[in-house]
Amino acid sequence: MEMRIPLSAPEITEADIEAVVNVLRTPRLSIGPRMVEFEQAMAEAAGVPYGIAVSSGTAGLHLCLSALGIGEGDEVILPSFTFIAAGNVVLYQRATPVFVDIDPITLNLNPDRLEKAITPRTGAIIVVHTFGHPADLGPILDVARKHGVPVIEDACEAIGAQYRGRTVGGIGDFGVFGFYPNKPITTGEGGMVVTRDAGLADTMRALRNQGRMTTDGWLDHSLLGYNYRLSEMNCALGVAQMKRLGEILEGRESVAIRYANALQEISEVTLPPLKIEGGRLCWFVFVIRLAAQFAREDRDSICEQLTAQGIGCGRYFAPLHKQPLFAAYANPLDDLAITEQVADRTLALPFFNGLTDAQITEVCGSLRDAIRGIPECSPQAASAAAGPKT
Ligand SMILES: *Cc1c(COP(=O)(O)O)cnc(C)c1O
Repeated sequence: MEMRIPLSAPEITEADIEAVVNVLRTPRLSIGPRMVEFEQAMAEAAGVPYGIAVSSGTAGLHLCLSALGIGEGDEVILPSFTFIAAGNVVLYQRATPVFVDIDPITLNLNPDRLEKAITPRTGAIIVVHTFGHPADLGPILDVARKHGVPVIEDACEAIGAQYRGRTVGGIGDFGVFGFYPNKPITTGEGGMVVTRDAGLADTMRALRNQGRMTTDGWLDHSLLGYNYRLSEMNCALGVAQMKRLGEILEGRESVAIRYANALQEISEVTLPPLKIEGGRLCWFVFVIRLAAQFAREDRDSICEQLTAQGIGCGRYFAPLHKQPLFAAYANPLDDLAITEQVADRTLALPFFNGLTDAQITEVCGSLRDAIRGIPECSPQAASAAAGPKT
């Protein structure tokens, strides 16, 4: 169903359109100058030397594991409270996902839970900057370095975010970005890996292009690779969008602040953190949490009511360990209690640049009415149930 106020909307300018159309006036539609330019822009933004453009964020995560040689018998540590892509790439490699619980405030991998999940078979840690909030990489990298385990930052939701003054994606061994239309920067479909490792960057360039190393001839293939290339049209859009990254992120931040103000009066709602000390958030989605007295069914009912009014909303995230594909991978050392509590009560509201004050007012009004309509939770219902005051 088409939403009157959609959950997300890409921001495309005339300059973006022109950049894409200009590619179509040239004969180079894949592996050309726009790809090189986009890779350089992304690497520079992350403060590392190499960028590898790929067909999606998922492809980028997959190439990291593949380039590291992760395979059957290896374990990959990741949060369960995330998008399915990070889990799927572990299964692509026939490795074993090991889920670790999250911090209840930042919703990111809890560094205190990390060390006991590490075994001699741990091949990598995937750290997700959930909803654009930088993960606590300091202690995570300390543990990872101590055990010699590489860290992949899933920065798909966090382009431009900063942790202790450094841009995310360029802090761990690899950073992965995604450019689906709901992301702050879009290329339609697309992704990017950034890294400081020249050798692994070469391997990933080969893997995205059917395993052909730069030293191979046209039909020589040294590795088992994939077609994970990103077309010149996509890269041109990425380059054009990256020129406005600062502006786009500021616009999104101002929408988040307006939401926070409008939601202040709904006491049943917990807001996402609006600031991070020594860092910067990237506003990917605006996810609120309902108070503890609400059950998952209440949240789902509220979401249905908003949808019925043409207001887009999302239940970010359904935990991975609750999905059939991952049900077999229980971690006996971690009950994922916070993940389960949080996931039942989160609700993503419409969020994009250009959301008007009137739309924000409408969304917050509808949300308030839907919340107060949940029988046992509304103050009116509570006092009615208690009977007339005598
Ligand atoms: C968007 C996203 C991805 C990548 O998605 P693609 O659709 O493959 O580009 C990966 N991880 C997270 C956390 C995401 O939000």
